Amino acid sequence: MEINAQTTEKVQKNFLEEIIENDLKEGKVQSIQTRFPPEPNGYLHIGHAKSICINFGLARQYGGKTNLRFDDTNPVKEDTEYVDSIKEDIHWLGFDWAEEHYASDYFEQLYDWACELIKKGLAYVDDQTNDQIRENRGTVQTPGINSPFRDRSIEENLLLFEQMRQGKFNDGEKTLRAKIDMAHPNMHMRDPIMYRIIHAHHHRTGDKWCIYPMYDFAHGESDSIEKITHSICTLEFDIHRPLYDWFINALGIYPSHQYEFARLNITNTVMSKRKLLQLVKENYVAGWDDPRMPTICGLRRRGYTPESIRKFCEDIGVAKRDNLIDYSRLENALRDDLNKKANRVMAVLHPIKLIIDNYPENQTEELEAVNNPEDESKGKRKISFSRILYIEQDDFMENAPKKYFRMTIGQEVRLRYAYIVKCTSCEKDDNGNVVAVHCTYDPATRGGDTPDGRKIKGTIHWVDANNCINAKVNVFDRLFNAEKPDEVEEGKTFLDNLNPNSLTVLTDCKLEKSLLTAKPLDKFQFERLGYFSVDYDSTQENLIFNRTATLKDSWAKQK
Ligand code: ATP
Ligand code: MG
Repeated sequence: MEINAQTTEKVQKNFLEEIIENDLKEGKVQSIQTRFPPEPNGYLHIGHAKSICINFGLARQYGGKTNLRFDDTNPVKEDTEYVDSIKEDIHWLGFDWAEEHYASDYFEQLYDWACELIKKGLAYVDDQTNDQIRENRGTVQTPGINSPFRDRSIEENLLLFEQMRQGKFNDGEKTLRAKIDMAHPNMHMRDPIMYRIIHAHHHRTGDKWCIYPMYDFAHGESDSIEKITHSICTLEFDIHRPLYDWFINALGIYPSHQYEFARLNITNTVMSKRKLLQLVKENYVAGWDDPRMPTICGLRRRGYTPESIRKFCEDIGVAKRDNLIDYSRLENALRDDLNKKANRVMAVLHPIKLIIDNYPENQTEELEAVNNPEDESKGKRKISFSRILYIEQDDFMENAPKKYFRMTIGQEVRLRYAYIVKCTSCEKDDNGNVVAVHCTYDPATRGGDTPDGRKIKGTIHWVDANNCINAKVNVFDRLFNAEKPDEVEEGKTFLDNLNPNSLTVLTDCKLEKSLLTAKPLDKFQFERLGYFSVDYDSTQENLIFNRTATLKDSWAKQK
């Protein structure tokens, strides 16, 4: 899809839209039916969000329907915990499915179809071990070798397959294979395995089955049962398509078709569920919903909105060639969204005291602050101001360079929404660290305007020290230092690319009083600092914020 970056207007249809419009126009399908087919072996990540947006988005766009189908054909890794989280995340992203299905609900039908293929002479039970099967598959250059069991009679095959189902054999002792062509140029067509024996408890079918269909035999057939018109998956499945079609043709069932698009890859993160699971299991992160994780629940906890994720997926488009998307594009989508939605507040993350020596002691004023300059309907609020404030440590410099327009001795600076102050001196501790800054204020500048029109170049934020709340703030950075954490030299793993400084916990932050009632997932712009979201563990007594993103992309500079 071609995207015009300025207007983000679609100037051209993507290839899936073209295919669907053509199929509808030519009457190949009456309406479209898609599906999202996660394997419940982990939490959904931002890559899945792209697939969700495509599958649900296309159906929505063309008045069709989308099913949610759990591809639960591997009992060893799957769990209902994952099923529940997947449903929650899809709903949160703003989509709803027409029907909820499980590939495991089709096991009986798939078994019958496997018997049908045996009866047609198109499948056989093989006694070779997995290793032997692999060895005899040949290579891309050389044909494979037919299994010595390839020409078993239909009767014997039916009997053995039934005995496989009855549990007469151990794991790996026998497989059911499609009888296609051991010399086929596509390795996936060299008598692919349809069923393997796994004596394991399944999260839905319990101990009913000890044979489980392989992806290639289960997926297309499940699509066909649900009359999926456009089965959309990622590019690595394109070499599976001939097999997808072969099974459907051999069985003469509803002809679903598979289409492939480029999967989403993002810099400085990993997206394989196996690796994400490892990060969780080995405590490199605090859980699947750690705000540094690229999971949907991690992004949610970090402060991402469903709108920003959908917008990101729309902006990156649908292509047929793999590419790597810069993480900052995800952050930019968030900034665009929260700029419109998030109320501005004042918070100081690294506080030092600012003492206004000529401001009356014991006086407190209420000043007016705008909640969101992008949205007048959000109104204004009162913020308190008195003699002692907190400002950011780095908004004061004793020996400042020329272009430093913030606090430095002798220079005037504007306190946001309040007064113009002039810095006079600073106090230091025994180690020479600045612990307080002194200034005087100009009472004629209330609200921040200078009556004589004198120019004030710098404006800084602040919080009233006598009327503020304490909070903990989690500041996150990229989880991995390397752009492509998966690409490692020999002897290293993706874990070697972890960023040791991906989390900084600031325990002494000062926030304006209005944040006292903030609830988990409430989102704010801390003026000049970025977007912050209230963590799940936050309470009125112990407020915890997560930094979702800075106001500008600071990573590019860091590199
Ligand atoms: P993993 O290999 O990490 O386990 P998966 O692709 O096996 O991931 P599934 O649960 O099978 O995960 O994926 C469900 C759907 O989401 C599939 O259609 C898959 O193609 C799609 N999907 C997974 N990862 C991405 C990605 N990075 N970009 C786009 N689509 C993806
Ligand atoms: Mg998969």
